[in-house]
Amino acid sequence: MLVDNHNRTINYLRLAVTDRCNLRCNYCMPSEGIDFAENDKLFTIDELIRLSQILITQGITKIRITGGEPFVRKDLMVLLRELSKIDALEDISITTNATVIGPYISELKALGIKNINVSLDAITKDVFEKITRRKQYDIVYENIIRLITEGFNVRINCIALEGQNINEIVPMLDLAKHHNVCIRYLEEMPFNGGSKKFTAIAWDYKRILAHIAETYPDYYQLESPKTSTSINYKIPGFIGTFGVIPSFTRTFCGSCNRLRISATGDVITCLYAKASTNLITALRGENSEETVKENILKAVGNRAKTGFEAQENYKGVFSNSMTSIGG
Ligand code: SAM
Ligand code: SF4
Repeated sequence: MLVDNHNRTINYLRLAVTDRCNLRCNYCMPSEGIDFAENDKLFTIDELIRLSQILITQGITKIRITGGEPFVRKDLMVLLRELSKIDALEDISITTNATVIGPYISELKALGIKNINVSLDAITKDVFEKITRRKQYDIVYENIIRLITEGFNVRINCIALEGQNINEIVPMLDLAKHHNVCIRYLEEMPFNGGSKKFTAIAWDYKRILAHIAETYPDYYQLESPKTSTSINYKIPGFIGTFGVIPSFTRTFCGSCNRLRISATGDVITCLYAKASTNLITALRGENSEETVKENILKAVGNRAKTGFEAQENYKGVFSNSMTSIGG
C-alpha cells in the first residue's frame, strides 16, 4: 500500500499517455500548441503497461487514462486491453475530449470500462468551437450521446471561464435534465502553457452554485465518496446530476488519494506541484522494477500537504500546460 507523509493512502493513478492533442482549448494551451515531447521521450505502450503493473503491485487500484488526448494515440487500445486483464485493478477510467473515441466505443464497453469523463465547455456550437479553436462540436456531441446511450457512466467537465461560457452554465444542465449524466463545473487553473496569467479567479465554486441557484433554487446536495474532488447535487425532476470541483480554491487536499504520471515520465504528487522525479530512465534501465518502486516511494513520502504548499515551488509563474500534466 502507498501511504504518503500525511497519512493519506494513494490508490488512484492518473496516467497520461500522450501530451498531444487535436484540440487547442484556450484555457489549456496557446493556439500554436506547446513544445510537444519528441516520440522517444514518451513512454511506449509496453512501458505504460509495465509501469502500470509495477504501480498496481504497490497498491494502485484505480487508473485514469488521460493526456493530451488519449485517443490520438493509435495504440491506446493495446494498453486498455492489457489493463483490463489485471484483477487487482478495480477501475479503469478515461478522460477524453470525445472527438475520436467513436470507433472504440463498442470495445471499451466489451472491456468493462465504465467511467468516461468528457470535456465540454459549452453546449452552444460556436461557443464550444471558439474555446477549443477547432470545428469538432457535432462529433463530440454525437459521441457523448452515444456513450450515455451505451450505458457508460459519463461525467462532463466544464470549466467556468469568465467572458467565454458563463451563459452556458445553466443551459448545459439540460443534458442532465434529459440524460443520466453528471455535469461538473471546474474552477479554472493557471496551467495553460503560458497563454494567460492569473492569481485569482472570477468564478469559484460558490459563485457557480449561486448562479445555478438563480434558475434552480431547490437543488440539494448528494453524498459523495470521501476522496471525491467534486461536490455533487441533484435538481428535483432531473435524470442526471451536477457537481462543482474547487480545483483552484482546493478544499479537497486533505483526502487526496491521487498520483499523476505524465506521458514523459514525470511523477507529479499534486496538480500544483512540480515533478518530484522522472521515471523514463528508471524504467528503461537495469533493475527497473526496484528503481521505479523506490522512486515512487520517495515521491509519495515527500508530498506537500496541500496544493497551496505545493505551489510555493512555482514562485508565482505557471508556464506548463494541462496537456502535459493530464488534468
Ligand atoms: N484531452 C482530454 C480532455 O480534455 O478531457 C484529457 C486531458 S485534459 C488536460 C484533462 C482535464 O483537464 C479536462 O477535463 C480539461 O478540461 C482539464 N483542464 C485543462 N486545462 C485546464 C485548466 N487550465 N483549468 C482547469 N482544468 C483544465
Ligand atoms: Fe486537448 Fe484536453 Fe487540453 Fe482541450 S483540455 S486542449 S482537449 S488536452
